[in-house]
Amino acid sequence: MLGLMQERPLMISDLIEFAAVNHPDEEIVSRTVEGPIHRYTYKECAARSRQLAKALDKLGVQQGDCMGTMAWNGYRHVEIYYGVSGLGAICHTINPRLFPEQIIYILNHAEDKYIFTDLTFVPLFDKLAEHLPKVKGYIIMADEEHMPETSLSNVICYESLMATADDDYQWPTFDERTASSLCYTSGTTGNPKGVSYSHRSTVLHSYAVCTPDGLGLSNAETILPVVPMFHVNAWGIPYASAMCGAKMVMPGPQMDGKSLYELMESEGVTISAGVPTIWMMLLAYMKENDKTFSSMQRTVIGGAAAPRAMIETFEKEYGVNVIHAWGMTEMSPIGTACNLKKKHDNLSPDEKIDLSLKQGRAVYGVDMKIVGPDGKKLPWDGKAFGNLMVRGPWITSGYFKGEGGDILDEEGFFDTGDVATIDADGYMQITDRSKDVIKSGGEWISSIDVENEAVGCSGVAEAAVIAVPHPKWDERPLLLAVKEEGSAVTKEDIIEHLKGSIAKWQLPDDVVFVDELPHTATGKILKTKLRSEYGEYKLPTV
Ligand code: ADP
Repeated sequence: MLGLMQERPLMISDLIEFAAVNHPDEEIVSRTVEGPIHRYTYKECAARSRQLAKALDKLGVQQGDCMGTMAWNGYRHVEIYYGVSGLGAICHTINPRLFPEQIIYILNHAEDKYIFTDLTFVPLFDKLAEHLPKVKGYIIMADEEHMPETSLSNVICYESLMATADDDYQWPTFDERTASSLCYTSGTTGNPKGVSYSHRSTVLHSYAVCTPDGLGLSNAETILPVVPMFHVNAWGIPYASAMCGAKMVMPGPQMDGKSLYELMESEGVTISAGVPTIWMMLLAYMKENDKTFSSMQRTVIGGAAAPRAMIETFEKEYGVNVIHAWGMTEMSPIGTACNLKKKHDNLSPDEKIDLSLKQGRAVYGVDMKIVGPDGKKLPWDGKAFGNLMVRGPWITSGYFKGEGGDILDEEGFFDTGDVATIDADGYMQITDRSKDVIKSGGEWISSIDVENEAVGCSGVAEAAVIAVPHPKWDERPLLLAVKEEGSAVTKEDIIEHLKGSIAKWQLPDDVVFVDELPHTATGKILKTKLRSEYGEYKLPTV
């Protein structure tokens, strides 16, 4: 017998309409590309999202069409999220930090009909357009007054397009499994692959973000997503904020320490979210300028492992609670968040930080398992490590257009490519990406562990550890380090520091100082590049 509950499909358009009705005067504040701060309410955002959907409909955009965006975090981008998905088309966010060849590949693969672009990226499209024959037009996210010089043909001004419609638009209702947005993985190896989210997966993921064991977002919070809207939908924050009516503060193109700090202070930001490299810049600015936070209470760190030194600085110096979180493009992205349990109340501050180094517990909806090389499940004892696999309603079942073929195991789990332990309380800790672990004499050395300890050494700004071939041990770790400005830190200082926390056989065989480390388009250290540059490096131990 079936239950008698109403079968209302989960629609993205309902998120923004809910915010408009229940939080009509809550604000979305944006630093614009043009310069000034823009502020308006959820009610106005919903009205403009409807207006955009109606205008796109008039332009001939159909359900199922892919609409590209290349834009910073800002209010027009939020309207595109809702307007495009709401009408049944697919909002395809493109990461401008990818190589031009990758951008061309992605745009042609997705067959984007139109591209929304911020002023910043118009010169890029001037160069790329000849390789994008399927694009019908470029919608420039500005008003007439700010329209730029461009060689692009079929250019549409966003605000003029808006003016072709009013906001009296009825959102269509359709199958909640319909594709709503599309985001390509950064493709450090091979071509980028598309991950296609649905209305259902997006709404369910938003619930998870709002739960206290997720990111605990609510109307009590003012959130500043530093994580870009072109990177896994800014970790779902623009949707979850509408679901709970949290004030949203969008940083636009300015993500340097000073700009972020000023915006956090002037808008009363209570929670933020971003990758470690962003926090490195913010913390450096605060230290140099002797600043403190007046409203910030929590920050979410994800995308790469949060080093202990960073968590300590946030917690101890600035009183900001760090939520270490893990996920990936294929997971919408939230998989785990490191919130403590009540049994941890009596832990000392240092013991709490020990726990925060783990990537945390699965949010409801995410099933995890770790498996050995034979595919057999490993115990949750905090020691056994294996390939981390996941399944759930906001985890991909396959890549866009079938790229990569069948990617799930017989139980429906997706292999994350991460190696992890899980303890008896369910706290997962990433030991490494499976391709980055250093296999030394049959033992595995976690590059993340060594890197995290190395950046705790005074004078080290950033560190990367890669495997270098070794005749006796197969592979040994090489540490590449960037010095803090003006620092005279030496190889011996770093090794001495590491000896305090890392087993002798895990110590790097050598340290090389470099001016900077290469990063991927999503802010992770580009290890493939380092491996190709230093793969032949001659270790002193050889
Ligand atoms: P995102 O960077 O938003 O998490 P990506 O799909 O670009 O999404 O990258 C996912 C990968 O990033 C994960 O498989 C994992 O290797 C790494 N990652 C994400 N969060 C963490 C974290 N907190 N600690 C360590 N690695 C992480």
